[in-house]
Amino acid sequence: MLPGSGSAEYNAGMPHGEGDAGDTTTMEIHVLDAMAREGFEQVIALHDRESGLRAFLGLHDTSVGPAFGGIRRWQYRDEREALRDCLRLALAMTQKTALADLPAGGGKLVVLDLPKVDWEAGYRYLGREVERLAGRFYTGPDVGTGARELGWMAPETGFVTRPDEAGPGALPESTAAGVFAGMDAALRLLDGEPDWPRRRVVVQGLGEVGERLSRALVEAGATVIASDLDADRAERVAEELSIELVDPSHELDVPCDVFAPCALGGIVHDLSLARLSCRVLAGAANNLLARPAHGDRLHELGILYVPDFVVNAGALIRGALFHLEGRREPVEEIGARIARTTLEVLDRAVQEGRPPARVAASLAEERLAARRSS
Ligand code: NAD
Repeated sequence: MLPGSGSAEYNAGMPHGEGDAGDTTTMEIHVLDAMAREGFEQVIALHDRESGLRAFLGLHDTSVGPAFGGIRRWQYRDEREALRDCLRLALAMTQKTALADLPAGGGKLVVLDLPKVDWEAGYRYLGREVERLAGRFYTGPDVGTGARELGWMAPETGFVTRPDEAGPGALPESTAAGVFAGMDAALRLLDGEPDWPRRRVVVQGLGEVGERLSRALVEAGATVIASDLDADRAERVAEELSIELVDPSHELDVPCDVFAPCALGGIVHDLSLARLSCRVLAGAANNLLARPAHGDRLHELGILYVPDFVVNAGALIRGALFHLEGRREPVEEIGARIARTTLEVLDRAVQEGRPPARVAASLAEERLAARRSS
C-alpha cells in the first residue's frame, strides 16, 4: 500500500510544522510494524564513529528499479522524529516515481543535524554507505544538503546526483516547470483556459524553485505576489521580476487564484485551512498536507489541490532519466509529462467525486502494480 491511500499516517513532529498542529513526538513508533504496514523493504540506522554523523536510510521500494531520494539534514527534536520523517519522505518518493512512470522506486536519507559532527568526513562516510548498496539507491540534494555536501560524497560513490550534473540549474528549473504545468492544467479544468493575464498567484518562498516559478508566471502574464523569510532575497527577486511582496506569515490570507507553497511542507493543517483564500493549491514543497485527511477537507472547501507529489517531480524525472538512461530530458518535455499526469488525476477526481490526493495515491499504486507485473 502506498501513502494516502489508507489510514496509516506518519504525521507527528515534522520539521517546520511538517506535522499537524498539536502533534507530539512522544508518540511511539514501532519500526517493524510501520515497515510492514507500508511495504518498506529496509530501514538502515547509520552511525559513523569517526565523524559522529547519525542518519536513517529508508528504502521503501526497489521492486521495479533503484530507489531515488535526496538527503535531508535537519535539527530534529529527537531520533524518533527523524525516523518518522525518513519513512514519510521515502514513501512519498515511491509515489512520485510511480506517478512519473519511472522504472524506479523511493528512498530517503535523513541526517540528524547535531553539534560537533565533522560534516565533511560524515558525508564521505555516507558516500561509502550509498556505494555499498551497489545501485539500489541513488541520492541527491534536499533541505540541508547541497553542492558542497554532495561534492564531498562524489569521490566515494557514483550513485549521487550533484545539483549541476544534470545541467546547470536544470533540477529546480524542471521542478518549476512541473509546478507551472500543474497549475495550468488545474485552471484549464476549472475554467476551460488558464487565462494567465487575469490570474493572481501567491508564491510562498522565492528560493531555487519559487524564483523560477515566479518568472514563468510573470512571463505568462500573471500577477505574482510573493514572500520569503530572507528579506534581501525577496527584495532582489521582487525588483528583478517587478512583483509585489507580502510579509511571510500573511501570504495565506491573500485572496488569489492559485497559492503556491515553495518553502516548506506541512502548511495545510487544522489551523491554516480556514485562512486559505485560493481556488487552486499547487506548489513545490513536499508533503504540503500535514495529514492525508487535510486533502479531504480542501476538497470539501472547494479548493482544488493538485498534489505535491504529482507536480513537484520535475527534478526527480530529470535526475532519474540522466542516471538510468544517460539523457537530459528537456524541461518542456518534463512540463508536458507532468501536465498529462495532472489532467489524468484531476479528470478522474471529477468523475469519481474523490479528492485529487486520494486519486493520485490510487493511480500511483496502479502504475506501480502494472510495472511490477510487466
Ligand atoms: P530553497 O531552499 O532554495 O528555497 C526555499 C525558500 O523558502 C528560501 O529562500 C527560504 O528563505 C524561504 N522560506 C522558508 N520558510 C519560509 C516561510 N515560512 N515563508 C516564506 N519563505 C520561506 O528550496 P527550493 O529548492 O526552492 O525548494 C522549495 C521547496 O520545494 C522545498 O520544500 C523543497 O523540498 C521542495 N522541492 C524542491 C525541488 C527542487 O528541485 N529544488 C524538488 C522537489 C521539491
